[in-house]
Amino acid sequence: MPFETFQKPARRMGRPPTNPQVALPGDHDAMTETQKRTHYSRGCRHDVCRAAASAYNKALAARKKANATGAASDAAEPAVLTQAEREQRLPALGATRRIQALMRAGHSPVQIARRSQVGVDAAWWLALGQVDDVAKVTHTRIDQAFHTMRTSLPEPMAKTRADGDRITAMSRGFAIQQGWAGPFDWRDIDRDERPQHTPSTRRRTATEATA
Ligand SMILES: [Zn+2]
Repeated sequence: MPFETFQKPARRMGRPPTNPQVALPGDHDAMTETQKRTHYSRGCRHDVCRAAASAYNKALAARKKANATGAASDAAEPAVLTQAEREQRLPALGATRRIQALMRAGHSPVQIARRSQVGVDAAWWLALGQVDDVAKVTHTRIDQAFHTMRTSLPEPMAKTRADGDRITAMSRGFAIQQGWAGPFDWRDIDRDERPQHTPSTRRRTATEATA
C-alpha cells in the first residue's frame, strides 16, 4: 500500500508507525525474560524486550570470554520458546480482521487500542496486516473489544462533536478505501476465507444504519 493512502487519516487517528522501532503486541508484564528476548528477535522494540536482549547479549559475551579462559559460567539460556509458550500464541488474522471491521464501523484505532489494551502502534500494525501472530491474551482482549464495540457507536473522544464525527468518517473512509469488511460481514471471522458480503459494493453496514 502506498504510504500516502493513509497519511491523511493517520494524523487524527494515531499515526501508523513509519519507523519499525515499535513494540509488537503482547502482554509485556506477563513475559519471562526468555519470552522478551524472543519478542525482541521477532522485531519488538519495547523497552523491556530491548533490555532483555541487551542483558542476554552481555551475558553471552561474558560467557564467551569466560569459556575462552576456561572458567565456568551461569549465563542465560538462548531465547527458545517452550512448547507451552508457543501454544499461547494465535495467528493474528482474527485480530487483524476484528480491528479492520471496527474501523469499517467508524471506530478509530485509538479507541480500539484503548478498549483492547494494546498500543496504538500495535493496533495499526495489526490493522495493516503486518503481524503474523499474537499472544492469546491479546487476541482475547481484541475479541472482547470487538464484541462490545461492533454494536456501539464510536465513542466521542474528540473535544467537539464535529471533531468526533470527522475522526469517525476518516476511520470508516480509510477502511472502505482498503476494502475492509465490516463487523457483520463475516460468518466466522477467524476462519472464513473471505467475507460473506463484498463490503465495497455496499453503502451501509448495520452500525452505519443507526449512525
Ligand atoms: Zn516486546
